Amino acid sequence: MDAYPQDREATKQLLERYDQPGPRYTSYPTAVEFNDTVGASEYEACLAAANAAEDEPLSVYMHLPFCAERCLFCGCHVIISPDKQNSLPYLDLLQREIELVAERLPKRRKVSQLHLGGGTPTYYSAAELDQLLTTFFLHFQATEDAEIAVECDPRVTSEEQIDVLAKHGFNRISFGVQDYTPEVQEAVNRVQSEEQTLVLLERARSHGFRGINVDLIYGLPKQSLETYEKTIERVIACGADRVAVYSFAFVPWIRGHMKNLKESDFPDRDLKFELFAMAREKFLAAGYRAIGMDHFAKPDDELSLALDDRRLRRNFQGYAVIPAEDVIGFGVSAIGDLRGAYIQNTKKLSDYRKQIESGQLGTAAGVLLKGEDRMRRGLIHELMCNFHVSKAAIEELYGVDFDRTFEEDLRRLEPLVAEGLAINSDSEVAATAKGELFVRNLARCFDTYWRELHEGQDKQTFSRTV
Ligand code: SF4
Repeated sequence: MDAYPQDREATKQLLERYDQPGPRYTSYPTAVEFNDTVGASEYEACLAAANAAEDEPLSVYMHLPFCAERCLFCGCHVIISPDKQNSLPYLDLLQREIELVAERLPKRRKVSQLHLGGGTPTYYSAAELDQLLTTFFLHFQATEDAEIAVECDPRVTSEEQIDVLAKHGFNRISFGVQDYTPEVQEAVNRVQSEEQTLVLLERARSHGFRGINVDLIYGLPKQSLETYEKTIERVIACGADRVAVYSFAFVPWIRGHMKNLKESDFPDRDLKFELFAMAREKFLAAGYRAIGMDHFAKPDDELSLALDDRRLRRNFQGYAVIPAEDVIGFGVSAIGDLRGAYIQNTKKLSDYRKQIESGQLGTAAGVLLKGEDRMRRGLIHELMCNFHVSKAAIEELYGVDFDRTFEEDLRRLEPLVAEGLAINSDSEVAATAKGELFVRNLARCFDTYWRELHEGQDKQTFSRTV
């Protein structure tokens, strides 16, 4: 399974052909299909349906969008605010939204996953976080084994904040590192020291946090094999349980601030691939397991154990071991996923304020799953997480004949099978070890939205698949 790359030159040639625009498949249908026909009344209906499933725990995502300054590679929905003029009232709105949703879920308050993301959650002081979490846990209760996670920018996080998070039961943490090389950090406007991460990592460990994650990015300006290798070695040395090595998605037509990155400083496609290949080799050599396309985990980490059992799942927040069927999103731009619908809150702070202050839900867009969406979503997620789909499992779950239902999809898969990147046998569709890097291309074969609405279009909507 971890044999890649046996022939790096051959893989590079494949890359030339298969590094194409395509969705990331954190959802299906993907976020470009979200539209404003889904609003507060649809969300009300979904919450009512979700409330009826009273024995099932929920997953919750809370978006804290503020950052003191902007990193030029950032692809998240953020509000840059050096002072707290907007961010403090936002905490009140968020707490009001928690109350509004909780009122609609009187029977369903157990949470098996809570994820605080941003923006920078630790933009808020320890006392402010304490207040927000106290309100949240007044309305919702964590299950005994809940994953309670926070994304953390080491530049602005204190040990006191980690203490407060631990007090509220937080047990997972993810540090944004990207690259320790000073020239790269300056080029992307995010200068941070290794020491800042190490101090916090130790503090989290002392509280018993598990699954401690470090985020890295490859494809950033000024990156070289030599310096990136040093970053990888330092991350391995710190003993992170998990590492995400993300491909930088350069999408200046969506994120205008990326125009401030100097394109001549970017590694070319060959070097970009070498950076990832080197990182992957080093993590595997250090004993990490490859998880999905771009994650690595120590063999005793829960993600590795879940991969062995083929029970890894993925949602907007990343890989999950104990996922809940329904996800509630709180805060501007947050996305929920419940009872067959994706529901997204408004991205504009002023609209969010108006809606929440008038006692309405903050919904602005979304998509209701229809027809084959649910089956295709299950299939694509299975491929993206576990690199494998059992034909019998799909047939049993959805009452279909796999080969007949997916005739066109399997035809599209044929070139990938011929290249040795995919397997289409009587029992399964799967990625080969060599094909894992191209799993987005495999998934795209099963995406009817892609082929009906986006394929062959000039419009730049998606990042590249590798
Ligand atoms: S701190 Fe994180 S969310 Fe904020 S701008 Fe930087 S990368 Fe984006």
